Amino acid sequence: MKRVADIAVIGAGCMGLSIAWHLARAGAGRVIVIDQRGVATGATANSSAILRTHYENPALASMAWHGLKVFSDFEAIAGGPSGFRKTGFLFLGGKKDAAAIRKTSRAIRALGINSVILEAGEFHHIEARTSRDDIGVVIWEPESGHASASVASATLADAARRSGAQISTGETVISITGRKGRVTGIESTAGKLAVGTVVVAAGFRSMGLLEPLGVKLPLTPVRHPIAVVTTAGSHPVAPVVGDRILGAYHRPEGSNQFLVGRYGFMDGDRDESVEEAKPARATALESLLKAFKARWPYEANARLARSYTGVYDCTPDLEPALGPVAGVDGLHVAAGFSGHGFKLSPAVGEMVAGGITGDSSRIARADRFDVRRFELRSLK
Ligand SMILES: Cc1cc2nc3c(=O)[nH]c(=O)nc-3n(C[C@H](O)[C@H](O)[C@H](O)COP(=O)(O)OP(=O)(O)OC[C@H]3O[C@@H](n4cnc5c(N)ncnc54)[C@H](O)[C@@H]3O)c2cc1C
Repeated sequence: MKRVADIAVIGAGCMGLSIAWHLARAGAGRVIVIDQRGVATGATANSSAILRTHYENPALASMAWHGLKVFSDFEAIAGGPSGFRKTGFLFLGGKKDAAAIRKTSRAIRALGINSVILEAGEFHHIEARTSRDDIGVVIWEPESGHASASVASATLADAARRSGAQISTGETVISITGRKGRVTGIESTAGKLAVGTVVVAAGFRSMGLLEPLGVKLPLTPVRHPIAVVTTAGSHPVAPVVGDRILGAYHRPEGSNQFLVGRYGFMDGDRDESVEEAKPARATALESLLKAFKARWPYEANARLARSYTGVYDCTPDLEPALGPVAGVDGLHVAAGFSGHGFKLSPAVGEMVAGGITGDSSRIARADRFDVRRFELRSLK
């Protein structure tokens, strides 16, 4: 029997699931999510799921703030847990960057986001245990924290199914078919599917799916190591720390562990075998542990418990590619999240689905993230 749907979403990571849920609950038609492996098995599986809002781009700050509000009230909004923990987020900047960081904090505060600039004395009241001699500025986000990407994705998948979406796992999309400038279907390992709208939310693999349609999305797959560090004692109220000075972030995990990752989005090995689980390099782990101990001097006896790596799908400007693709009717993209997409996924779901149903989102405009910007730039 011929398979037919109205909208196919390629990829069941946090983005594909969020988009599908928004589409299905808006009654956009028959929605199918297709994933070559399973729900949350790509970058989403390894996400540290940190929710913070300090972005220079105001659209991203608004999207992150929306994500924070959604994940902190996920039971009421999506009908299940997100694993949210409100730990607060401390962003530490050096003396050189202090003026620019203060400016960003003031700008996002003007958007209604709870971002506070702390002076040296006030910082001590929030977190007295860190070293501070090298710090030029501290931003405190009291409402931020982290979620669990796998828990939130499972909730989203259930919510999407309950709203009528179908999720097909173990099915690989081979190509998107089109005629006369419009999408007509997809070909996958399960055969042909006739469909009028396709959303490509396939992480780094989005690039290869879009290329035959003449759409250039330059993505670099960058493999990021995460060190899981066990501390000597417990840390019941440790905040998430974004340490721009020492180049690492620390996220509490349970009461006696931290996930420690690199701060720089492009710091890491270029690696196209994104589906393979690979161990972190010993040198990378050593430097992460060193940065952690330097910031938390009382944790001199902390030790490495385990490690893993995950892949960032980085665009040249480290901002995502979102929304309809001009020139190919029925084709939409949600990719290139460059290592900071989890927190944006509730907003991306609303914005990309709205671009299909015609309901414009008030969070931010998707055309700011138009995929065609890369081609236009390369023509200059
Ligand atoms: C180590 C690490 C830590 C991170 N920490 C944070 C953080 O703290 N905060 C934050 O906001 N973000 C973080 N991120 C980034 C965030 O996790 C990602 O931006 C987000 O998960 C991307 O989701 P996605 O749905 O776009 O991609 P993915 O989760 O990669 O999903 C894409 C899916 O597409 C499927 N697919 C690919 N090709 C095909 C095909 N041909 N046919 C069918 N299916 C296909 C894949 O199987 C995959 O499941 C982190 C990422 C990593 C790797």
